[in-house]
Amino acid sequence: MPAEHVDVLIVGAGLSGVGAACHLQDRCPDKTVAILEARGATGGTWDLFRYPGVRSDSDMFTLGYSFRPWTDPKAIAAGTDILDYIRATARERGVDRLVRFHHRVVEAAWDSATARWTVRAERSDTGGTVELTCSFLYCCTGYYRYDAGHTPDLPGLDRFAGRVVHPQQWPADLDHRGQRVAVVGSGATAVTIVPAMAAEAEHVTMVQRSPSWVMTLPTADPLGDLARRWLPRRLALPLIRWKNVLLATLIFQLSRRAPGLMRSRLTAAARRQLPPGYPVETHFAPRYAPWDQRLCFVPDGDLFRAISAGRASVVTDAIDTFTETGLRLASGTEVPADIVVTATGLAVLALGGMKLTVDGREVDIADTVAYKGMMLSGVPNFALALGYTNASWTLKCDLTSMYVCRLVNHLDTHGYQVCTPLPPPSGPLQPLIDLKSGYVLRSLDRLPKQGAAAPWRLYQNYPRDLLMMRHGSVADEGVRFHRVSAPAAVR
Ligand SMILES: Cc1cc2nc3c(=O)[nH]c(=O)nc-3n(C[C@H](O)[C@H](O)[C@H](O)COP(=O)(O)OP(=O)(O)OC[C@H]3O[C@@H](n4cnc5c(N)ncnc54)[C@H](O)[C@@H]3O)c2cc1C
Repeated sequence: MPAEHVDVLIVGAGLSGVGAACHLQDRCPDKTVAILEARGATGGTWDLFRYPGVRSDSDMFTLGYSFRPWTDPKAIAAGTDILDYIRATARERGVDRLVRFHHRVVEAAWDSATARWTVRAERSDTGGTVELTCSFLYCCTGYYRYDAGHTPDLPGLDRFAGRVVHPQQWPADLDHRGQRVAVVGSGATAVTIVPAMAAEAEHVTMVQRSPSWVMTLPTADPLGDLARRWLPRRLALPLIRWKNVLLATLIFQLSRRAPGLMRSRLTAAARRQLPPGYPVETHFAPRYAPWDQRLCFVPDGDLFRAISAGRASVVTDAIDTFTETGLRLASGTEVPADIVVTATGLAVLALGGMKLTVDGREVDIADTVAYKGMMLSGVPNFALALGYTNASWTLKCDLTSMYVCRLVNHLDTHGYQVCTPLPPPSGPLQPLIDLKSGYVLRSLDRLPKQGAAAPWRLYQNYPRDLLMMRHGSVADEGVRFHRVSAPAAVR
């Protein structure tokens, strides 16, 4: 039996995989599409993470799809609402019918003679293996391991007699009411969990080795409300989206170009929201410049309010050791705890752990150069959905999906079968992600590189990418289109 063939195979049914399938249906209606999903459910991140308070930290008007705007007036949404939104989109568009669950893709092999990928997936429900072929492979696998998060070596953790939980594997039966909780970490997850648990815990202590920049975002959007009230929906929703794109761009650009100004504004804002005399410099003024690592956003200053109410506190120090009853810091301070939450980050994983080969040669992703932040040099008919790190993930993934549709249509219109990105002709290569966050630094040697200029440079700038990816040519100097002499018959 020949393997089943589809024109475009999407791997992953999270926010970006569902979006990708919708774009393909709209823009390439004649193409056959399937989605292979390792888990038994759609939603990816928003189905996996169940910790208290899980929510977006970028606004939903830009995290929502361009083709199905987020209509709730609340800009910051709970994880469950985001999951409902992804699933409702999949249902309305019939994309849920394209998903094959429990299919973990382990390998994809490109054959230049037939211009096809052969994709092998392991089935977690039957234990079997499935092979499919496709003309274009689109990886929407997110960026981290699903089976485990990152936990650094925490001295003496095994001595701790209470419960230790990682936010990625939140136990459904964990009852933190009236408990003393220590949250180890200072990133986006820690600043979300601390106020959420503080509402019911006896006390929550955030234990951080060094501080992060934390910025308050309003949950409500008064300008958006005005636009909604006075303008027709078809104008109001794109307007709100653009206002938020420009605001996020402004915050990022200000951080990069005037770090001193951003430092003083963020520190002053924290001081205003905390009790008089609070040591803001110690706990909320990092040594690094804002946006050198991801900025943490807190809706309506909930973290600062929990601290001000005495329900939560922050300690900034190295952990000397865990004890049976909590942890001891390098300064000798003891933090008593019944529950320890290791909010210590994600383990980055490129392409969902898939092995790629091109004509029998294994592709080392670290040797490739990203083209337009979505394809890899030397890897034909392949794209990956990699969102922004400084703005909503979907802004870039929407553009990437639209670009994939343009490429697929360009191949058809010109009678080509293959498009292969080329490496930049010269110039130094740089790491793909220009952030100094721990999870990024830990993974740089396993990620593609970027070049010094477009189309190999990742500007992380939506207005710029919009111009390049919606309106720029798909046949530029960075990609080669060609025909094969004996392409495999379609289906
Ligand atoms: C707690 C948390 C909060 C976040 N908040 C925001 C936010 O506010 N704003 C923002 O822009 N970003 C945020 N992010 C980043 C977030 O991951 C993206 O916004 C978005 O959800 C990613 O969607 P995705 O579909 O690309 O990836 P994922 O959501 O990770 O989905 C990937 C899917 O691919 C599947 N998959 C992976 N490998 C394979 C394989 N080999 N075979 C088959 N299937 C596979 C997975 O099972 C999963 O279903 C957050 C991330 C986390 C962890």
